[in-house]
This record gives sequence, structure tokens and C-alpha cells, in this order.
Amino acid sequence: MSTTPPIPASPPHPPTIADAGHPLPLCPDYSPRLLLVDDEPRLLSSLYELLRDRDYQLVTATCGSEALAQLNRLQFDLVLLDLRLPDMSGHEIMDFMNARGIGSDVIVMSGDVGIEAAIGALKRGAYDYLRKPYSREELLKTVENALQKRRLAVDNERIASRLENSEKMYRYLVDSSPDIIYTLNHEGHFTFVNDRAYQLLGYTREELLGKHYSILVHDEDLERARYVFNERRVDERASRNVELRLKCKGGGGAERTFNNTLMTISLNAIGMHLPDHEVKRHEFFGTYGVARDITDRKRAEEVISYQAYHDILTDLPNRMLFKDRLGLAVIQAKRKLTELAVMFVDLDRFKLVNDTLGHVKGDELLQQAALRLKDCLRKGDTLARQGGDEFTIVLPELRDRADAKAIAEKFLESLQKPFDLDGHLVHISASIGIAIYPSDGETIDELLRHADIAMYQVKALGKNGHSFYHNSMLDVSHQKIALEQALRKALEQNELEMYYQPQVDVVTGRIIGAEGLMRWNHPQRGLLSAGEFLPFAEENGLMLPISDWMLGALCRDLLLWNAAGGEAIRLSLNLSPQYLDRGDFFEKMRGALTRYGISPAQIEVEITENICIRNPQYAIEQLNKLCQLGVSVAIDDFGTGYSSLSYLHRFPIHTIKIDQSFVKEIHDENGHYPVILAIISIARGLGLHLVAEGVETEIQERYLEANGCTTMQGYLYHRPICLHSFISVLQAQNKLAPLPGGAALDAAVAPMAIQA
Ligand code: C2E
Ligand code: CA
Ligand code: CA
Repeated sequence: MSTTPPIPASPPHPPTIADAGHPLPLCPDYSPRLLLVDDEPRLLSSLYELLRDRDYQLVTATCGSEALAQLNRLQFDLVLLDLRLPDMSGHEIMDFMNARGIGSDVIVMSGDVGIEAAIGALKRGAYDYLRKPYSREELLKTVENALQKRRLAVDNERIASRLENSEKMYRYLVDSSPDIIYTLNHEGHFTFVNDRAYQLLGYTREELLGKHYSILVHDEDLERARYVFNERRVDERASRNVELRLKCKGGGGAERTFNNTLMTISLNAIGMHLPDHEVKRHEFFGTYGVARDITDRKRAEEVISYQAYHDILTDLPNRMLFKDRLGLAVIQAKRKLTELAVMFVDLDRFKLVNDTLGHVKGDELLQQAALRLKDCLRKGDTLARQGGDEFTIVLPELRDRADAKAIAEKFLESLQKPFDLDGHLVHISASIGIAIYPSDGETIDELLRHADIAMYQVKALGKNGHSFYHNSMLDVSHQKIALEQALRKALEQNELEMYYQPQVDVVTGRIIGAEGLMRWNHPQRGLLSAGEFLPFAEENGLMLPISDWMLGALCRDLLLWNAAGGEAIRLSLNLSPQYLDRGDFFEKMRGALTRYGISPAQIEVEITENICIRNPQYAIEQLNKLCQLGVSVAIDDFGTGYSSLSYLHRFPIHTIKIDQSFVKEIHDENGHYPVILAIISIARGLGLHLVAEGVETEIQERYLEANGCTTMQGYLYHRPICLHSFISVLQAQNKLAPLPGGAALDAAVAPMAIQA
């Protein structure tokens, strides 16, 4: 067997893959490699000659073992194989190739006429069989066909692999999308879902495929979902960004348990249509959709909108949300022809707690009160904080007015127990006004206003109670507005007047002082006492001009009463907290005294305990300046406010006035009235002057005197009287026993700071 190739060595071959099983890459610019195997040198070289002009790379082998060696060494696209070789048969070579997975095509050439040889070759996968002698054309055509077929196969394979790669890529893109991507068929059943659905919702692809979309949708959103998931439009009308809540499957694994964890998705869905060329219309076959998890954004939005609609302090709905709820309740009531109740709750005495114990405790009180009120309500009721210490409530679908009454009573009862503010026990109550839809109003504003008016009525009648609105109350509130306007006018038209109530020393029986009390000569209603109009003045900012007026009036009057021999009588004036708070109060006071030439020693200002607490530092400064000027200071209504002795000792105080509520208690001369006794002993201990107020009976007088309080003010001696009457009283006293001018002004009552 000759191994001498009759032909020149093969040209260098492109690098090949070691694994011969791989199909050869037949690139367009790549020339196919052929192995020519024949033991007859003449035939081999003619074959070589025949093919050499073509663009093939030719390798030759003259025996089986040489062929095997070449097959081991190189990859061939085509083997032209002589079946009969000296050392082995062509079949054996093909067996070898099959066993090695060598994928070269084989064209078998044989002089054998026997059909078995052909069958044997074809069975082993030969591409074709050429009987020797073959014609030149036949050979070239067969070779070309084989290579062509191979080229196609390789092309197909490459396309297939490219397709597979792009499939993989799209699948990867779809599955790793941050959004859920799905398709539904025309019946709304899932035909595709990406992996993200599992990560976000906890359902595997298998659990969803074939299932109706509604298994995922929150019950309340089903209707909206129906619209979105049935999306058939493809143009810009297609649904965009529809928010839906989807149910997530509970983690942990227990199958079929839905823990209703909800996720809000924003959905884009678009109808899918098959192009139907024949009918020239698109047939709908399902929905393609992208669902984005916007739970975090929703949550953030919820927090923001929650804050916009809730009161930060009490966590209750605020005024805005309340109006919204009330609006809805009114619409419902209108439709169902039912009643509803609106309540206005205002805490009594809250301001006092706030001023006394400070804002922190005040806030705490509001929080605790809100909780108690909330506990009294049913599920559909709304309790809101209107602002300050005001709460509003809507009770929708009221069966009966009695229900509203019952809830109001429950409120009041719930507030009865004292509130513990860090150890401070505080008692408060509330005033509640109730308005009923539709009889008391048909609009939100009307209902609120009327509930408010009813609440004010309760306040006016002594607080701590509730009242249904009634038309007659409108008159009261109209009266209130009219009063305010009239009061402004009263100032301009000089309808105000100072009255004086003498203070008597019961030991000598002489008048030693008088308190100035304001009166209003109302053109229609007659003489109004201070308690009837000054509280309105406090509310409406009229207290400042009224106080300015008072100061002037008092000074003018004082000149007259001094001229009548009353220089020894001290004048007490009531100082409104609002007036004291104003920066120019002291200057005004000093200015007035200087202008009228009045001795400051003849003046005492009465302040209430609460003044000392609101802005103590500032109040102390003002009062100290007054003291330096020579004016003395009395604590009015002592014992009714929230002041503590620790505060009091910081104030420059000369006199304590025992409040009339304590004096009223005294019914028995030999009785025991500990509050009175305590106040008297405080005054004595601190060296303070004492005045008992509202003394109406001799029993009261004797009890007070017996226990050491000798200066009295009250109806038992004098009611507040006009200047004219007061001067007459002074003159009568002077006629009885005239005093040397001015000498009786109690010099013992010198300004001093009380020690705690
Ligand atoms: P107040 O300073 O405690 O004045 C005492 C109130 O008790 C006065 O009511 C007086 O008329 C009344 N009163 C006096 N003796 C008796 C009595 O024996 N029995 C009863 N039942 N009442 C008696 P009025 O004049 O209505 O004053 C109410 C409040 O208005 C005063 O309380 C005072 O805080 C304030 N006020 C009165 N006049 C003025 C004023 O000119 N300026 C300021 N800023 N406040 C004033
Ligand atoms: Ca007073
Ligand atoms: Ca008083």
C-alpha cells in the first residue's frame, strides 16, 4: 500500500475544533475540505485532478489506516471513499467515523456491482453511492450536491442556534424585568407570566397559567380589573397606569393560604390581535399587560395624604377629612332618607390647663381626651379634631335622636374620671352641641354652624352638658353678634360707666377702699353688669380699648371722689390679663396717674391667679415696675385658679381677696370651713392684707371676723354703686367722723415679696 501522495501537500487549514463531532462551520468564504481515499494511484490522481480546480481543499489517502489518520487529524466536510481498500473496507472506515461521531459526509465509490455494498454504505449513513467507473459530470455533481446539502444543514443549524439564543435573550429580558409581564387569552386566563410574578406575588408560573386573572385581584378592585384585563384596544386609548391591588400568596409555604398581603400595581394592558389577512380585520386573541409594583410609592403617598388629612397630635381626622366624610354622609342620608347627627364638642376649662400646666401637658390632655371620646363611638362614626380643644363628630344613619343623646351622655361620662397628666390629676368636662340632618340644616356648613351654636348655648348655661340645636338659639347667637357691635358703639357713645363697690373695715365700720366695676348703660336692655358683657369683650379683642377707657374713667372719677374727701380710700381696679400682656400697659398706667396727678399709693390692681402663670416672667416684671411706682397688687378670686404657692411667692403681692364662692359656703357661724381658714392663715403667715368678697350675710361676716379677716366687700354693705352714690356715701361717712386727709391710707401694706 502506497502512502505517497501523488499530489502536493494540502494548503494550511483554518483552526479546527478538537471535537470532531462538531459540524464544520461552512462559512461563505471558507473552502470545503475533502478527503479522497483510493488505493489505486491512477484513480486517486485523476480524482484529484478533477477536483483541484474547484475551490476545495483536497487531502488524499491511499489506504484505510492513512484515511483514519487523516480523519483523526483533520475535519472534513466530505469524504470520497473507495469501498475496497487493501488494509480495511470502506465500511470499516465509516464504522470508525460513526463511532467517533465524525460528521463528515461520505460519498462511496466502488467498482462492486453487488447491491449489498451499496446498501451497507447507505446504512452507515453515506450520502451517495457512485459506481465505478463514474462520469466526470456525475462525480462533480454529486460532490457539489453533497456540499450544498451540507451548507444548508449548517446554515439551518446556525439559524436555529441564533433563534434559540434570541429566544433565550428575550425570555431573560422578560423574566428579569422589574415588572410583571403577562398575557391573557380571550377568556381572561393566563397564557404567559414572567418569573417576576413569582418573586412579587409568590405564585409559580404553573399556578397561574390557565387560571383566571381574578384569583389575583383584590375583591374591591375586581370591577376596575374587569375593565383593564378585558382591554381590547391597541391604540393610545388602551388602558394605562390603572392602579390595582393584587393578592400575594402568603410566604412560608402553606399552600392555598392567602394572607391578603396586597400589592398595588400600575397596569398597562393592550389587546393582542392576530393579523387575519384574508378577512382584512384583526381578530382579538387576548391581552398583553405589564404590571408594575408601586406598593412603596403608594405607601409613601398614603403617608403623605394621611398627614394631610389627619391631626398629628391626636391622630384623628382633621377638619378637611371631617368635611369630606360629613359631605358623603349627607349624600347618603339624602339618598336613603335617613337622619344624621353632627356634634360639636368643646372641652371646658382646657385653656386653663394649658396656661397652667403648659402646652406639653395640654397636648397630653387632648390626646387622652380624644382616646376616651373615640372609645364611645361605633364603627362608621367619625371623630375629628377641629382645632384647639374642639372636636367634631358625625353619626351617620341615625335611627333616632335618642342615639345621639346617648352618645353625648357617654362622652360626658367618659370625661368624668380625672386625667392623669404625669402625676397631675386634672378634671375637665365638655360642652356638646348637636345638629340633626335634615331638620337643623341640609348643608355641611349649616350643620356645623348650628352644632357650634348649640355648643355655645351649653357653655353659656354653665358648661358640662349637651344640647340639641334649636332655632331659638340662632336668636341667641345673633344677639351675640349684635352685642359685639353694640359694645363697640357703646365705647364710642360713652355708654360705659364705672361703678364702685365699697370695702368696709368691720372693726371700725368705715369704708377703707372701693373696687371699680364696669357697667354698661345699654340703650334697650338697661344697666348691664360687667359679667354680662366683658367676657364677650375678651373674646372679641375689645378688652384693650375698653381697658384704655377704664383707666381714664377711673382717674377722672378718682379726682372727683378725692375732692369729696375720699383721698384716704384706696381704689381697686381689675386688670384684664390681655391688658397686662400688652407691652405698653405699664407706661399707660403711669402716664394716666401722672396726667391726673394721682398718687400711685391710692391704687391697687387686682389680678387673677392665672395671670401669674401664663407668662410669669413678664407678669413679674410688669408688677414689679408697678410696685416700684407705689401701686399695690391684690390677688383676685384667690383659691379658684390653678396657682400654686411656689408661683405666688415670686410675685410682689399685698392683698389676697377671698373668692365669693368660698364665702357663700359659710352658713353656720360655728361651723368649720377649712378653705377659708387656710387662706386666712396663708395671708397671715405671709403678712398680707385680706379682703373677703361677696359677703351677703351677718353669719358670713361674723365667721370671717372671728377668724381674722376684717375687710369685707359685698351686698351686706353695699352693692356696686355709681360714682354719684359713692361720693354721697363717702360724704356721709366723713360727716360722721371726718378723717384727716389721706392719713388713713394703710401705710402698713408696703410692697413685699412673699416668701414661699
Ligand atoms: P370680680 O372682680 O370678682 O368682681 C366681683 C363681682 O361680684 C362683681 O360682678 C360684683 O358686682 C359681684 N359682687 C359683689 N358683691 C357681691 C355679693 O355680695 N354677691 C354677689 N352675688 N355678687 C357680688 P361684676 O361687676 O359683674 O364683675 C364681674 C367681673 O368682671 C369681675 O369679677 C371682674 O373680674 C370683671 N370686671 C368688672 N369690672 C371690670 C373692669 O372695669 N375692668 C376689668 N378688666 N374687669 C372688670
Ligand atoms: Ca375684682
Ligand atoms: Ca373677685
